[in-house]
Amino acid sequence: MICERCGNPIPAGQTYCPSCGAAVRASAPKEPVATHPMKWYKFLIYFLLFFSAFANLLSSFSYFSGTVQGVYAAEIYAAYPGMKVVDILSGFCALGFAAWAILTRIALGKYSRFGPMMVCIFYMASAAFNLLYRLSATLVTGINLFDVSSVGSIVGGLVFAYLNYIYFKKRRSMFVR
Ligand SMILES: [Zn+2]
Repeated sequence: MICERCGNPIPAGQTYCPSCGAAVRASAPKEPVATHPMKWYKFLIYFLLFFSAFANLLSSFSYFSGTVQGVYAAEIYAAYPGMKVVDILSGFCALGFAAWAILTRIALGKYSRFGPMMVCIFYMASAAFNLLYRLSATLVTGINLFDVSSVGSIVGGLVFAYLNYIYFKKRRSMFVR
């Protein structure tokens, strides 16, 4: 342990610094000591997770209101009533993603040991949702709705989950609360 006032070493178990006499504070340091750069972590907690929550909130409204289907929403729902059900359920999923992003933000901000896992779950669940949405829409309409961009978003979500897993694995000593 290092004295906070003079910087000299303090033997374990001592309550006062032998060099300058400063009292050893019982409380842990405010933030864990970073062993790796934490830019991505900061980007996640100060921007991306809030942005994701907001984006999911917006998309929940677009699912509930039908604007997700564009200008022909009424015609699409009339032709494929099951699609309305898929979109309502998706609206609730998006609300769940928004809430999860905020919970993940809180856990990461506190250096909770569950935070990194929650980030990975967020991106894996996003990929699973994209897969299930396209699959449901394809089954309901009988039209293959798996285009390049939808496959890209599914694979992208899984890759993102994996990259976050690697990133936080290197920094797992910081997430112990
Ligand atoms: Zn000291």
